[in-house]
Amino acid sequence: MDEANLIAALRSIVGEGSVDVGASINPDDLHDESLHPPVPVATCVVRPTSHEQVAAIAAACSSAGVPMVARGSGTGLSGAAVPLDGAVVISFSSMRRILEIDLANHVAVVEPGVTLAELDEALRGTGLRYPVHPGERSGSLGGNVATNAGGMRAVRDGVTRHHVLGLRVVLADGTSLDLGGRFVKSSTGYDLVQLLVGSEGTLALVTQVTVKLSVRLPEQVTLLAPFATLDEVSAAIPELVVTGVDPAILEYIDFLTMAGITSAAGLDLAIPPSVADAALAYLVVVLESTSAERLDEDAAAVAEHLSRLGAIDVYSLRERTGVDLIAARERAFYVAKANGATDIIDVVVPRAQVAPYLARVAEIAARHQTFITGCGHAGDGNVHLSVFEADEAARRALLLELFEAGIELGGAISGEHGIGVAKLDAYRALTDPARLALEERLKFAFDPQGLLNPGRSSRGTTP
Ligand SMILES: Cc1cc2nc3c(=O)[nH]c(=O)nc-3n(C[C@H](O)[C@H](O)[C@H](O)COP(=O)(O)OP(=O)(O)OC[C@H]3O[C@@H](n4cnc5c(N)ncnc54)[C@H](O)[C@@H]3O)c2cc1C
Repeated sequence: MDEANLIAALRSIVGEGSVDVGASINPDDLHDESLHPPVPVATCVVRPTSHEQVAAIAAACSSAGVPMVARGSGTGLSGAAVPLDGAVVISFSSMRRILEIDLANHVAVVEPGVTLAELDEALRGTGLRYPVHPGERSGSLGGNVATNAGGMRAVRDGVTRHHVLGLRVVLADGTSLDLGGRFVKSSTGYDLVQLLVGSEGTLALVTQVTVKLSVRLPEQVTLLAPFATLDEVSAAIPELVVTGVDPAILEYIDFLTMAGITSAAGLDLAIPPSVADAALAYLVVVLESTSAERLDEDAAAVAEHLSRLGAIDVYSLRERTGVDLIAARERAFYVAKANGATDIIDVVVPRAQVAPYLARVAEIAARHQTFITGCGHAGDGNVHLSVFEADEAARRALLLELFEAGIELGGAISGEHGIGVAKLDAYRALTDPARLALEERLKFAFDPQGLLNPGRSSRGTTP
């Protein structure tokens, strides 16, 4: 089938108005938020409204031998949703129905284009929430599944894979599959749901997601603890996790990042200048509880712990200020971007290795005479670094060193943003060849023509 026939076939599946070609393609459908996006090359953008339409689109592309790229909200940070090689962009923006909120089984069943903000809104008043909290709430559930999105609440609530119970998917050739269900355990065959979570659209197109919900705790407080050194912050993290209080959020923010995000948000934390001048890093601890009394007790216990662990002071932020600080932290990416960051990386290490990792980062930055700032989901060892290195060769060498340092400390090059195209070279260079070969064979088993999201991750088409 040639290109004109394929476009005609796609139009007959979804309707004339739901296939954009050439100049009618909205440029916003061709990029994500990565700082080094590849140049997009798309045949068209198609917007299905049902599982059946997705299956028919995949079958048509497969028989034409044309690649496909799934697109959620395009908030990814690794170029994974950018079309390459004349791919058909399958945008899930018109599949955003919340199909069911099952209060008896504590699950929600949604179409993949539903955003985190939309699901959260739909759950208000039910006493339940979907607790995965990546910084960009306009991200879609389909995109979250494909990237195994994490975020600030991972320290207590886990990441996307801990909440996905079932998936409805379409394989590259149009085959439909229902995987998992509304149950939390299964010892029935390979766990294909978990294999697909984090597969960055390279193995299957997700058309329906069943997620586990948790209780929305009504009481919340944010504690802010400035520390004189980054080392002390890092050392405090493992200690806090075992207090038994179970923080919902445990973020570290270095002083430069804190200055940037609060100024961008116009947020005054009322920290005395003498404390702000002495603080090189901050720990943000969010606690939640069923009752205000219990929350007060927990907050007092954590504040005492923080002081013993070296905090210069501990501030209990008023409800609105605490919420605003978390919102400002979520915007850290945009602040770094506006200030000229060339890369945002998300290395993950075991949580007790955050301090050694940050020491390695400081040493690498000094040796390269490069500027690196940071913040991160410290409770789960996920360090987010904003790198400012304009020279292309120096930048590549620097990134590789930062990734290698994380791996040497028992970590991985991406804790949540994925490999996409941004980290593909590093992933190939730093990953065990036996693992890469197994991934190639898995890819071939799912997608023998190599049509789903080609050029992403290590996955090629070699059997
Ligand atoms: C300011 C900001 C803060 C962020 N903070 C975090 C954070 O704290 N934690 C975190 O994990 N991420 C974070 N992210 C990254 C991003 O929000 C997540 O990667 C998110 O999961 C992407 O969802 P999306 O819908 O935008 O996916 P897209 O960017 O559209 O796509 C991402 C990948 O998913 C695939 N995909 C999308 N839909 C489907 C589908 N239905 N079937 C199969 N594959 C599909 C795409 O092909 C691509 O490979 C942040 C991004 C920004 C801009």
